[in-house]
Amino acid sequence: MNDFRKKQKIENPQYFNSLKMFTSSVKKNRASAVANTYCFEINKNHYTIDTSCGKKRRNELKGFLKDKRKNTILCTHYHNDHIANNWLIAKKNTAIIYHKNAKSKINWLRTNSTGQILKMYSTMDKKSVLSRLGFFNKKTAAFLAQSPLISRFIIPPLLFIIAYIVSFKNTGFMFPKKRNITWLDPEKKVKIDLNSITIEGWIIDKDFYAFETPGHTDCHITFYNNEEKILFCGDALNFLNPNDIQFGSIEKTFSTIDLILNIAKDEDIKTLALGHYYPITGKENIIKYIEKIKEKHEYVYGLVKSQAKIGGCHLHPEKIYKEVINLDDPLIAKLRRINFPVSTLVFLDVFVYKLLAEIKKEITGY
Ligand SMILES: [Zn+2]
Repeated sequence: MNDFRKKQKIENPQYFNSLKMFTSSVKKNRASAVANTYCFEINKNHYTIDTSCGKKRRNELKGFLKDKRKNTILCTHYHNDHIANNWLIAKKNTAIIYHKNAKSKINWLRTNSTGQILKMYSTMDKKSVLSRLGFFNKKTAAFLAQSPLISRFIIPPLLFIIAYIVSFKNTGFMFPKKRNITWLDPEKKVKIDLNSITIEGWIIDKDFYAFETPGHTDCHITFYNNEEKILFCGDALNFLNPNDIQFGSIEKTFSTIDLILNIAKDEDIKTLALGHYYPITGKENIIKYIEKIKEKHEYVYGLVKSQAKIGGCHLHPEKIYKEVINLDDPLIAKLRRINFPVSTLVFLDVFVYKLLAEIKKEITGY
């Protein structure tokens, strides 16, 4: 094996000036399957953004936080790969901060996996969803989906159990930590004056803010350290967003990308700390990165829309998904390589389904 193909051993935490990052990534240009964790201090208060999931991260964080007298856990959103370790990391005096929309999800944390699969099965083409999961071949998937009794009464509980086991394998036991939680309430947002733009959000600490950035989920938050010019944007800039059929929105994905781009430009952001990728540093690189993400989303959006028109505007999600995924197009070829179930970050079928639902709503009003 060539040297450059060998896995790099990456030590945790890694340092970006005063920012500490824990990652599972083995290569700097690769996405980490387990979300990154960021630790830093503001005004002598210690903060941890996204405790992530898994034993390895838990042990690393526990060791690192041992001598931190008071730590606050900040959650970018409810996805299990970002928050599953909360209950094991939090000490008695540890505060946890979530968006208020995460409140209804905290008692049902596994809905991130089980609810996602069940909703995909109940709303999308059953045969296709079953065969895409990778557990059944096409023939078996067709048989299971076509049988009314099996598809209605056997498959949903079976999918629930499979999704539960997969989630348990990835995150282990997971209990919601309910004490000491602050819910950021949209009705209690205040006007925050930045360089030349004013954004409504919440003040967390001196020169440290939280902004609503829905799209990836409806409870997604971006945190901003104004003193050090670091923007923590969780999964808001993942490609492809949204991957959450339950709580994601395409329209909001785009408005969030624009908001983050405006902040990056206005505030001369020095570090863009992402959920699954290495932080981007330097204003020019950051702006270029966000513009590229926007461009790629717009490109896929355009492809789906034009296929919908070619297909006589039947707005049949499965038909249009198949047309788009088979397109001879370099970006779609790239998506094909990382699409679910290879990665749980990219669901082109969910994107097509959501986009068609938004078009349908625009046309019919429902
Ligand atoms: Zn996520």
